[in-house]
Amino acid sequence: MKTSQPLHNALLQPYPVEDHCLVIGGIPLTRLMQRIGRTPFYAYDRRLIRERVSLLRQHLPQGVHLHYAMKANPMPAVVQHLAQLVDGIDVASAGEMKIALDTGITPENISFAGPGKSRQELACAIAAGIVLNIESEQELTAIIELAEQMSLRPKVAIRVNPDFELKSSGMKMGGGAKQFGIDAETVPTILARIARTNIDFEGLHIFSGSQNLKAEAIQESHEKTLQLAVQLTTASPVRVRTINIGGGLGIPYFPGEQPLDLAVIGSNLGKLLAEVAPALPGVRFVMELGRYLVGEAGIYVCKILDKKVSRGQVFLVTDGGLHHHLAASGNFGQVIRKNYPVAIGNKMSMTDTEIVSVVGPLCTPLDLLADRMMLTRAEPGDLVVVFQSGAYGLTASPLAFLGHPAPTEVLV
Ligand SMILES: *Cc1c(COP(=O)(O)O)cnc(C)c1O
Repeated sequence: MKTSQPLHNALLQPYPVEDHCLVIGGIPLTRLMQRIGRTPFYAYDRRLIRERVSLLRQHLPQGVHLHYAMKANPMPAVVQHLAQLVDGIDVASAGEMKIALDTGITPENISFAGPGKSRQELACAIAAGIVLNIESEQELTAIIELAEQMSLRPKVAIRVNPDFELKSSGMKMGGGAKQFGIDAETVPTILARIARTNIDFEGLHIFSGSQNLKAEAIQESHEKTLQLAVQLTTASPVRVRTINIGGGLGIPYFPGEQPLDLAVIGSNLGKLLAEVAPALPGVRFVMELGRYLVGEAGIYVCKILDKKVSRGQVFLVTDGGLHHHLAASGNFGQVIRKNYPVAIGNKMSMTDTEIVSVVGPLCTPLDLLADRMMLTRAEPGDLVVVFQSGAYGLTASPLAFLGHPAPTEVLV
């Protein structure tokens, strides 16, 4: 079969091609592989990350602070790079907190969210002087006790479980019954309790979901989030300094998905913020993003070890797979498995194509990186590239499964 281009043409555009070889961070892929000395690897492009932040700065309303939710990609070099570009870092464990603090970013600009923080983690965070987003009343009690023992004044924000859900969200993380945050209707009681303590109260954190590609749904979520913020702030006995309106901006993975129009989202948010400004004087607004900042800036690369045909179906067997990249295998929360954009990185834009399945070395049929996809005709030694791999890749994968070595990560 002959076609001039692999699938998902639009998604491959951020990476130039030279002599049929994909170029990332100015380095041809085959050269990068030689430099690393092995496959598989993840490569992240620092220029693409920088450009993504610029795009957000250009379209988001003036004064909205941008935070990086580092669980999307906690590679220390990536976090270090982003620390120079954004206004804060959101962490979800004491381990992530260490990486964030190592960047030299001011502790007040680090916030720690997540249910089930241990006493040890709370104590570390109080000592560090970062903002703790509390997720339960019990957690508040523990913080008050620890603060007393440590003679420190902890910075605390309330993570609110809103009374609405983010429509069309890939992953709902707020609304209804959730393990995250404190139900909106309980927040006034917690605020009253905080008012009776010596806590340094920061504000409210309202995060309702992830991977949203519908501008109207995001708009509606911003509107409801701000309404809720006004309602809670107006009745609050303690001053609300910061309102984190969450993020949830998605990136396109599959055929037919379109990137978000940031201009529309930004201008709408600007209007909404202008409307609520009189009710929220002096409040600082924060937007926290993970996937949107890094997802499109990363690729996963593995090498073809074997090519075999089983009853007419061609299989490319690679040295990488589900254990390194669970999401691309379709097993990270996806309901229906779809192919991530995949290409043969050292044979880009070649006309000789065939329909193949790309599999990994694991002894499970789940270890599938591409299911019957049209790719350039490839042979053992060629490089398979999985795009849109900068977020929820390596650290969201079951690395220990079958005991193969971990992939290398580079920021180029
Ligand atoms: C995971 C998470 C994020 C990041 O979500 P993305 O979809 O990667 O942008 C932001 N905030 C909180 C509280 C999270 O748990």
